[in-house]
Amino acid sequence: MIVGIDLGTTNSLIAYFADGEPKIIPNRLGKNLTPSVVSVDEEGNVYVGETARERMSLYPDSVAQTFKRSMGTDREYVLSGRRFRPEELSSMVLRSLKEDAETYLGEEVTEAVISVPAYFDDKRRKATKRAGELAGLKVERMISEPTAAAVAYGLYDKTKDTRFLVFDLGGGTFDVSILELYHNILEVRAVAGDNYLGGEDFTEVMAKLFLQKSGLSLQSLDEKEQVRLYRQAEKAKRAISDADRVTMSFLYREETREEEITGKEYGDACEELLLKIREPVKKSLSDAGLKLSDIDEVLLIGGATRLSLVRDFLIRLFRKFPDTKLNPDETVALGAAVQAAMKERREEVKEVILTDVCSFTLGTEVVVEYEQGKFEDGRFCPIIERNTVIPASHTERLFTVRDNQDKVRVRVLQGESRFAKNNLYLGEIEIDVPRAPRGQEAVDVTYTYDINSLLEVEVKVVSTGRTQKMIIKGQDNQMTDEEIQKRMEELAYLKIQPRDYEENRLVLLRAERMYEEALGDRRKKLDHYITAFEAALKRGEHDEIRDAREALNEILEEEE
Ligand code: AMP
Repeated sequence: MIVGIDLGTTNSLIAYFADGEPKIIPNRLGKNLTPSVVSVDEEGNVYVGETARERMSLYPDSVAQTFKRSMGTDREYVLSGRRFRPEELSSMVLRSLKEDAETYLGEEVTEAVISVPAYFDDKRRKATKRAGELAGLKVERMISEPTAAAVAYGLYDKTKDTRFLVFDLGGGTFDVSILELYHNILEVRAVAGDNYLGGEDFTEVMAKLFLQKSGLSLQSLDEKEQVRLYRQAEKAKRAISDADRVTMSFLYREETREEEITGKEYGDACEELLLKIREPVKKSLSDAGLKLSDIDEVLLIGGATRLSLVRDFLIRLFRKFPDTKLNPDETVALGAAVQAAMKERREEVKEVILTDVCSFTLGTEVVVEYEQGKFEDGRFCPIIERNTVIPASHTERLFTVRDNQDKVRVRVLQGESRFAKNNLYLGEIEIDVPRAPRGQEAVDVTYTYDINSLLEVEVKVVSTGRTQKMIIKGQDNQMTDEEIQKRMEELAYLKIQPRDYEENRLVLLRAERMYEEALGDRRKKLDHYITAFEAALKRGEHDEIRDAREALNEILEEEE
C-alpha cells in the first residue's frame, strides 16, 4: 500500500486512498494530527507526538520539535545525551505514522508519497527522502504541498482554465504558490515563501504581549515557565479568532498572573508579521507575471490560516473569500494520498499531469569576457532558472576560453548568486575537446530536471559528438545506501511505545504537569486521582487501568 504523508513542521498526518476518496488515518491515540515532536529518554525509549510534547515541560532536555526547519543542515539535536540529525528525528515521526497506518489498515505500508514545501531546495528534499528511508519507507515521489492542496480540492477536475493561489501558513513555514490549470494540466507557475514564518510567530507575539503587559521579561522565566507561557499563549491565540478579547493566565512563581488582551492590541502587535506575509505573495505574482486581480481562487492551508486576523488580511488583499471547504490541517495529506493512488494507477483517480516548479536555479560555472580580451572566471551561468516548470530540459552552449584548450569541465551548481563560489556544488563532468583556437570548440550542456528532483546533466562536444552524462545524487551530507542501512540499525534500539502504554504515559504526563501548575485543593484532588491510577497500573489489571485512566482523564479535562 502506498500512503500519503504530510510531514509538517508542527503536525504530521498520514492518509490513504479507499472507496474513491482519500482518508486520514488516525494515530494510536485516535487523533488525526500527530505533533511533529520527538522525545528520547535516558533508556532510549522514543516518544512521538502528543506524549513527546507533554514531556516538554517536565523533561525539556529530552525533547525536540520544529526540526523540519533544520532539514538538510548539519544541525544536531541532543536528547538525553544522544545526538540526532533533523532527518533522523523526522524518521521517528514517519516510523510512528507508518506503524499506526499498518495497525489501522492491517497491512504493510512500504511506500509513501511525502509532501514538502514548494520552497524546499534539493538538499532539504533529499534529507526528507532519507528520513523516509530511515523509517523503512520507499519514497519515490515527493509532492509539493500546494500541488497536494490543489489535488485534494479536486481542482484538476475543473473544466475551465483557472488560476489559483495556494496560501499555506503552517506552524513554522509559509508558502505561496500560484497554480494554473490549463488544458487539463495543473501547473505550478511560481512559488515563494519564507522558511522562518508561521503560526508559531503569532504565538510568540501573543506571549510577548502578555509579558509586556504584566511587566515580566522572558529572561526571568526558567525553562519550564517558558514552556508554560507558550502553551498559554497558544491557547489565547486560538481563542482570539472567535472573540474580541481574551484573558490569558500564567502561573509565575506560584502566583497566577492574568492579563486581558484585545483583538485590536493583538492585531497591532502582529502588523509586522502581516507585512512579512505580503512579500512572498507579491514575489510569486511578479514571478508568474500576474496581478492580484488575475487570481481566480485562493485556497487556504496550514493550521495558522484559521486565525481570523490572517483571513481578514487576505480578504482585504484579494477582495474575495478564500476557499476553505476542507480542513486546512488535513488538505495536504489528503492530496498526497490522491497522488499515491495516481502512482498506483488506481482506476478511481483520473491520472492528471502534475508539474511542479524548480524552486531554485541550476547552472554551471563559466568564464565571461567582460571586455574585449578581458576575462573573469568563477561566474555562474543559469541553465534551468528558478520557477521553471518541471519536468524541464534546457541546453546551453559553452565555448572554449583558451587556445589549445583540451578539456572542458562542467561544474554543476545550484543557487541564485552571480558568483559560482556562493552557490551549492552538486557535481562535475570533465570532457575532452579537440585542441583549437579559443572559441572554436564548444560543448552543449543539457540539464534535465524531473518532478522527482533528479537532475540529469549531459555534456556533448559539438564537433565530435562525444557525450558524457551523469545523474546528480550524492552530495555533501548525503548518506550512501550502506550508511542509511547502518544508521537504521543504530536507531533500531530505539523503541516506539505500544498503543496502550502510550495512552497511559500521556495521561500521567499531563497529570504531572497539571499537578505542578496547580495549588491547594486542586492539587490534592489531582494527587488523589494520580495515585489511584498509579496503583491500578502497578496491579496491571486491564479493565481497572482503563477505568482509572478514564476517571483521571475526566478530571484533567475539567481542570484544563
Ligand atoms: P500546521 O503546521 O499546518 O499544522 O499548523 C500549525 C499552526 O497552526 C500552529 O502554529 C497552530 O498554532 C496554528 N493553529 C492551529 N489551529 C489554530 C486555530 N484554531 N487558530 C489559530 N491558529 C491555529
